[in-house]
Amino acid sequence: MQQLDGQLVFSPSDLNNYLECRHLTQLDLAVANGELEPGEGRSKYSDLIARKGDEHEAAYLQSLKDAGKEVVELPSFNGTRSRADVAEATVEAIKAGAEVIYEAAFLGDGWGGYADFLLRTDRRSDLGDWSYEVADTKLARRTKPYFLLQLCLYGEQLARLQGLTPEWMHVILGSNERHRFRLAEFDAYYRKVKQRLLDEINASPLDTYPNPVSHCELCRWSEHCDQRRIDDDHLSLVAGMRSDQVIRLDGAGIPTLDALALAAPDTAVPRMAGTTFEKLRRQAALQLDQRKTDEPSYELLAPEEQRGLALLPPPSVGDLFFDIEGDPLYEDGLEYLFGVVAVDPAGNPSVDPETYAATQTATVAGTPKPPASIAADSYDSPTETLTLTLGLSPDDAAA
Ligand code: SF4
Repeated sequence: MQQLDGQLVFSPSDLNNYLECRHLTQLDLAVANGELEPGEGRSKYSDLIARKGDEHEAAYLQSLKDAGKEVVELPSFNGTRSRADVAEATVEAIKAGAEVIYEAAFLGDGWGGYADFLLRTDRRSDLGDWSYEVADTKLARRTKPYFLLQLCLYGEQLARLQGLTPEWMHVILGSNERHRFRLAEFDAYYRKVKQRLLDEINASPLDTYPNPVSHCELCRWSEHCDQRRIDDDHLSLVAGMRSDQVIRLDGAGIPTLDALALAAPDTAVPRMAGTTFEKLRRQAALQLDQRKTDEPSYELLAPEEQRGLALLPPPSVGDLFFDIEGDPLYEDGLEYLFGVVAVDPAGNPSVDPETYAATQTATVAGTPKPPASIAADSYDSPTETLTLTLGLSPDDAAA
């Protein structure tokens, strides 16, 4: 959101941010009102996603051109060209009936944004014998609710300009699959979320708190919010603490990690089991101790049957401990790094640091080298490693 000519203008990401975290909306509102500097804590991961997203968008643009489509590329919004200028250029392009419009800008009714592509259809509208539908490129492998909210917003803006609500909205996924969704099926949800956001803005400023949520790792405010929780010694700093447990402990007069660590073990917290409270209290005590001593604190737990490491089968000569790393953002996904620890007949662990694929072809085919402790002329895959190793196991041979 931002102030344009004295009016707050919202974007599709404001809708998503509101659904992810109400505190985020309050911070962004404070920035738009000039009360706070923008957060700078964008993670490298979100930068990578943004770059890969741009590449995906450019590749789809090229595929349209290669298919002979007439593509009008609108000028980008920059220091010399205002957002209103680009929105005006979009209006001109849709009136002219371009087959595909790239980077269409909308600005109206207090909302704005950029649709990747407008695709001309044969449905009649106020424009003439044609109208447009929106297509957005998304790096994800599946369509997410936010994509559809965003497309509903663009559809609403298009309806304003062409006098006709688009029938379909299109998503081009990172896999290059193209999915279409009927706008009418999602419009009620979109309008509901939009109204809730506007109601929240009208009621602002609100006393929200940066309780950690999954969106934090992508959020530009992550450093800001981390620091706030540290300054407050917030209960969310206790490892394994859930947000509902924070609320219950806070309601019982235990608002900080320090207070929890020093609480009496038999403290009664409404709607929290005594064992749960004691587990959280001991965890908080460990962390408080580590803060004071600057030494790693730990507590040895008594072994329990069928719990933790006790769930593992008895050790065997043929045991393999296997780990695999992947890169889901690589084209079609990539599983590229294999780690295997084998146990030799003398019971010594053996690690092969070269257990990875040397080429992309080998990587995709999943053909890392076998661990050094396994002699295999015809080694071919991790599965074969397992098979070969099981073959070496006297326990399994006897079974
Ligand atoms: S970092 Fe997390 S808590 Fe803070 S504004 Fe972002 S999403 Fe909300």
